Amino acid sequence: MSTLVDYPTFSDSPFFFDRRNLHIAQEEGAHVASHSAPRVAYFHPKDVGNYHYGERHPMRPHRLELTNNLVLGYGIHEKMAMYNPRPATEEELREFHDADYVDFLKRVTPANAPKLTKDYSMYNIGDDCPVFHELFKFCEQYAGASLAAARKLANESTDIAINWSGGLHHAKKGEASGFCYVNDIVLAILELLRVHPRVLYIDIDIHHGDGVQEAFYLSNRVLTVSFHKYAVDFFPGTGNLSEIGANLGKHFTLNVPLQDGIDDESYISLFKAVMEPAITTFRPSSIVLQCGADSLGLDRLGTFNLSIAAHGECVRFIKEFGLPLLVLGGGGYRQSSVARCWAYETGVLAGVDLPNQLPSNNYYEFFGPDYQLHPPLTGRIHNFNTRQSLERIRMSIREKLRYMNGAPSVQMQEIPPDLMGFLEAEERSKEERDEEANNGTAGDERSDGRGKQNEYFDPEVAHEDGDLITISSRGKRTMRF
Ligand SMILES: [Zn+2]
Repeated sequence: MSTLVDYPTFSDSPFFFDRRNLHIAQEEGAHVASHSAPRVAYFHPKDVGNYHYGERHPMRPHRLELTNNLVLGYGIHEKMAMYNPRPATEEELREFHDADYVDFLKRVTPANAPKLTKDYSMYNIGDDCPVFHELFKFCEQYAGASLAAARKLANESTDIAINWSGGLHHAKKGEASGFCYVNDIVLAILELLRVHPRVLYIDIDIHHGDGVQEAFYLSNRVLTVSFHKYAVDFFPGTGNLSEIGANLGKHFTLNVPLQDGIDDESYISLFKAVMEPAITTFRPSSIVLQCGADSLGLDRLGTFNLSIAAHGECVRFIKEFGLPLLVLGGGGYRQSSVARCWAYETGVLAGVDLPNQLPSNNYYEFFGPDYQLHPPLTGRIHNFNTRQSLERIRMSIREKLRYMNGAPSVQMQEIPPDLMGFLEAEERSKEERDEEANNGTAGDERSDGRGKQNEYFDPEVAHEDGDLITISSRGKRTMRF
């Protein structure tokens, strides 16, 4: 006979309650069998929520602190491995970015900025991408988290990796763009390409994922698919249906240009109608999903009509393919919505059903007046996407996938021969050897204070400065348009 214990739940607990003392996690959803539950690793650089772009700037890293508080408040950390990853090194940033640009980001401070203004236009520094206190440290932290997450997937020591501080999809090889300085997504994909023949990138931010598309525009090893608002006066102005890739990468870029006000039903049905055949045609080895939350209704910059449930349904749908999955943040300019959305999606990924009543947490006042996980966000903007326009997009994407199927590619090769040669020839660093021994924790500090918890956890390995991962220049393909 089982003993029923009446554990308190957050939904009816008026005060903050420390779940760590309970030694239990919330029940998993019935649809996830315990023996098949994917391993989830969660990367949150300590203090990454403490940076400030400036008083009137819409990008607020503080939303990451709110998100993390909800994740902990709901107790989802009981179902995941929690990491405080080390910052990326300059050498790692240079795997994609120009050395002079990385050097500029490292040198510039609010104090010396007036002397460096001649570089501002070259690196696109200004109102959108301002210089702020410890800017470079911020970049190193969020990029380091995406790299650590990618390494953990590449060495198969997790099935799903989450970094809400990443997903800065606009940054270019040699310049900042759209609140983004370093493109952690491109860096993470390059890391995955060391062992994965094909990587699928999906972007559900309301803005076009231009930086990632541009980086892999000539590559057939990365399929980029971006769902976004497309209008001449809407940033960044790219992402038309006609942008399909070039040279070897022709047909390996997909764009889904949408209009204001798209609703849950239209978005979800189009997302599934595009992604299901894209995945079965491209057959990716892993998937990177950028979950920009500015596609939610009531965003301060976005003009879509999506609910948190619909945004999360896209995440759930991709998770169900069971491929190694890197989940990243991105845009999102209503902090309380962003935190709710990413906490909900963390629950979806970790297989935890979250009660609608938000848990007590350090920032409870941000979530008034309803204090619910799913507040009404939709229906405020007219839907300018007609059934016919969406059908035209769907047909166009289907047509493009037919071309991709016939394109010369690496599809039949499980491991690209040049990469195998690289792996054999390259002298491994200690860190790489450790990671290949399947411990996957090189340089990353476990932040939950627990030791070996189950069979998925391995001993921690201290990071040695100067002992860096190196990567060949393959994959560093870019094209301006
Ligand atoms: Zn955005």
